[in-house]
Amino acid sequence: MNTHYYCRHCGNHIGSIEREEIYNVVLGHLTEQEKQDMLHYDENGNIYVKAICEDCQHTLENHPHYHEYESFIQ
Ligand SMILES: [Zn+2]
Repeated sequence: MNTHYYCRHCGNHIGSIEREEIYNVVLGHLTEQEKQDMLHYDENGNIYVKAICEDCQHTLENHPHYHEYESFIQ
């Protein structure tokens, strides 16, 4: 069981970490609403997190309205 990060804009696989780490590092900082929006679970207990890759982060910095066209392919 791992935690997989995907870019919420382009669907790029950013990386994977051990499941335990996400609770300590990430989930402690999220509201319930944010968890529901960002996290998805599969039947094997893997966690999929919508995040943002470096390319899209760079795009957002240059085009602040880009996030209005958010799409995520799962
Ligand atoms: Zn991206």
